[in-house]
Amino acid sequence: MQVVILDEGSDLDAFSSAYGLTLLFPDTYIILPNSYDYKLRKTLEIFQDRVKQKILKKQEVDFSKVKKAFVVDSQTIPDLDIPIEIFDHHPKKDLKNKNIKIYIYKTGSLSTIIVEKIKKQKVKLDTEDATILALGIYEDTGGFKFLGTTSRDLKAYNYLLNIGIDLVKLKYIVSDTFDLEDSEVLREIIKNVETLPVENKKVLISNLIRKYSKDVAWILKYVKPFEEADAYFLVINQKSKKTIIGRSKDKDIDLSKIMSQLDGGGHPFAASTTVVGFDFNEIKNFLTYLISGKDKTISQFIKNDLPVVESNLSLNQVKSVMGRYKYVVVLQSGKYAGILTDKIINNAIKHGLKDEKAITFTEDFITLNPNTTFLQLLKLTSNYETDIFPVVEKGFYKGVIYKKDIVNTLAGLSDDKPLFNLSSKVKTVNYLERLKRFFPKDVLDLLKDIGQFSEKLGYKSFIIGGVVRDIVLGKQSLDIDIIVEGSAIDLIKRYAKENNLTYHVYPEFMTGNIVFPNGLKLDFATARKEEYDSPGSYPKVEKATLFEDLYRRDFTINTLAIEITYSNFGKLIDYFNGLVDIKEKRIRILHTLSFVEDPIRILRALRFAGRLEFKLEKKTESLLKHAVEKDLLNFAPTGRINLELNLTFKEEKVLDILKLMDKYKVLYKLFGITLDKEKEKLLVKLQDNFLILKEILNTDFPTSSNYLYVLLSNYPQEIVYNLLKKYHFEKEAKYIDEFLSAFKIVKESQNKYTLYKTLKSFNREFLPALTSFLDSNEFKGIIDVLKKEKNPLIKGEDLIELGLKPSPEFKTILEDIFVKYLNDQFKNKEEAVSYIKNKYLKEVK
Ligand code: ATP
Ligand code: MG
Repeated sequence: MQVVILDEGSDLDAFSSAYGLTLLFPDTYIILPNSYDYKLRKTLEIFQDRVKQKILKKQEVDFSKVKKAFVVDSQTIPDLDIPIEIFDHHPKKDLKNKNIKIYIYKTGSLSTIIVEKIKKQKVKLDTEDATILALGIYEDTGGFKFLGTTSRDLKAYNYLLNIGIDLVKLKYIVSDTFDLEDSEVLREIIKNVETLPVENKKVLISNLIRKYSKDVAWILKYVKPFEEADAYFLVINQKSKKTIIGRSKDKDIDLSKIMSQLDGGGHPFAASTTVVGFDFNEIKNFLTYLISGKDKTISQFIKNDLPVVESNLSLNQVKSVMGRYKYVVVLQSGKYAGILTDKIINNAIKHGLKDEKAITFTEDFITLNPNTTFLQLLKLTSNYETDIFPVVEKGFYKGVIYKKDIVNTLAGLSDDKPLFNLSSKVKTVNYLERLKRFFPKDVLDLLKDIGQFSEKLGYKSFIIGGVVRDIVLGKQSLDIDIIVEGSAIDLIKRYAKENNLTYHVYPEFMTGNIVFPNGLKLDFATARKEEYDSPGSYPKVEKATLFEDLYRRDFTINTLAIEITYSNFGKLIDYFNGLVDIKEKRIRILHTLSFVEDPIRILRALRFAGRLEFKLEKKTESLLKHAVEKDLLNFAPTGRINLELNLTFKEEKVLDILKLMDKYKVLYKLFGITLDKEKEKLLVKLQDNFLILKEILNTDFPTSSNYLYVLLSNYPQEIVYNLLKKYHFEKEAKYIDEFLSAFKIVKESQNKYTLYKTLKSFNREFLPALTSFLDSNEFKGIIDVLKKEKNPLIKGEDLIELGLKPSPEFKTILEDIFVKYLNDQFKNKEEAVSYIKNKYLKEVK
């Protein structure tokens, strides 16, 4: 079989020619493009029955069976490894390929040539064939009025007329009929036409905002101003994206190159793309830039002025190489490894790390490669708060692109004011609906009210941190932290007073809270930045912007904020790509000194990783290992370690977290212990025991003490005591004595009665840990005692029912029965009752 491939935007002449070829050569099919002229659409509708069986969709064609492909009315070469014949009546292009035959004619229409061939071959035509073929001739000669019309066109048309042309159909198809929608769209496009400031060329652009039910491309040639332009563009606004289509008559304005820099594609003379997140002004700017510039890639922005160092230099050495530069490029075995910033180096040196290797604190900057398109570059520069982008190709450092160069270049292009507002373009997502689903109505209303109040005071407010992370994850949480850009204290006081609510403020920390009648407590803090003087110390605080407040936080997943200020209620703000990290289940620190500045984050990282089943991102993992190895946990205040461990033991996935703490040697650094199989078994038992005992005794048990007693169980008492004291587990240290002696007695108890006696006097808070060390028989014994104690066979009221008068003797009787019950001498209540009747009732009588 053979195919005729029609190019994008094909018109009547192309189709008529293709149709003619199917008449000339049997077993030939037409492949339509995605978009084509609207008159061709009319033709396909009207002659549906005739043309249907001659048309195939591209995906229906088995190209291995195709012997030859024709291209008509265009010289676009299809990407096929078969013989290709091109028929065109436009000037010949420079096509060199031995597989291609190319025929160029100088007639007004290409259909003319095909009709001549049909005539020569004496192919039989009917009125429908003649009409379809005539359409191409009529259209491309403008009804024989165009200057390119030749006598051959007229002769061919005459030949068809003699066969019979359906002139009514022809007239209907070639007439430019607009419906109301078409005319309105056309009017809007014409009204919005502007000139782009490109030197020596006339380049126009227009903006279509109105919705249009048809493919807009066909209408472009009716936009009068576009007719004399060297090139023109139309920006079509759809919901969240914008489609840009372009047409060019100028070989210097190569649209395929320009659009490929905007992540689109097409031909040099007709191309399109779709962009998200840029407005019309910005689109005008970067089109102007791309048309004006000679080199249409990002390469002209690449500079090579940053110092470069090898990864094994010490931070001190790097600092001396660096001089006054803000950044230095780090190479490892000649390949790009990342960037060190002056801020990181200075802080690291301040923390006593001057001899550390450069590579340790090298940061992963977003890198570009020479093929990164202009649009991708624009997106990156507007999404990231960094001012440099290293360019790396196949691992090798090629230079750096400065954000300010791009901003300046784009800003210099036009006089319109807000040109390219890169810095304000942090990633935002509308979370209003999610908020409505997540919070109970009263909480949502409260947040709205606070947002409104905040706006009145001229402050911006955001919910941030854990709760936002949990909203994204869809995990229930009402632990709401609010950040105020302004003064949290002022907001708390005024809001609480106006609504008659209880509040607390801590001015030295710029924090406070409000307690609501329904019990909800909201925590507020002024947006602030922090300076850490030594690892893990409490930081100095200072008022700041939301960004700075978020920058001091632990992990990207905890840096999301949702604005609650009235006019932006529900706007999620993502400075550090936290959303992506949540989606990819990654824990990532914000900068390489994070664990040095606050080693508690080591514990938090593992706690979140365990809780959420997330992984540590690669660099984060290596820095965490480094921090553990450098013993930084020993610099953290022990009080904070205490708090963090308490939280850990309360986690549902505590075992997974402990395993991670073991894997990363944190348990070893804190307590000198590792988790062997034996201890893991004990911990699993402990978890089971919490549940079993809770069920029987109807009470919750403290977690820290029980976990710590099990974790530290292979140490002598004195060491356990000292370790607990070291991390401020005062109560747990105090009871260790009692725990151990109870344990000893339980182990040595000969019968259930002594067990019962021990349990009676023992502090039951530690039962879960204690029972973890018992074998299954011993454990069963304890459970039996506890169950029987909870549900004795005989109670005081039973004795009264039996006719006994309440007396001190009751206690003796009950004890007697209970001991016998413990020793399984009674199977049920009846047996106990008959025993009582026998022994005690008789005596009473
Ligand atoms: P949880 O669900 O456990 O409450 P959370 O993320 O709310 O998780 P919090 O301990 O309540 O954790 O802390 C609130 C927020 O404060 C965190 O989301 C994080 O942004 C920040 N934060 C807490 N501790 C640190 C720390 N050591 N270093 C940096 N930021 C921290
Ligand atoms: Mg929290």
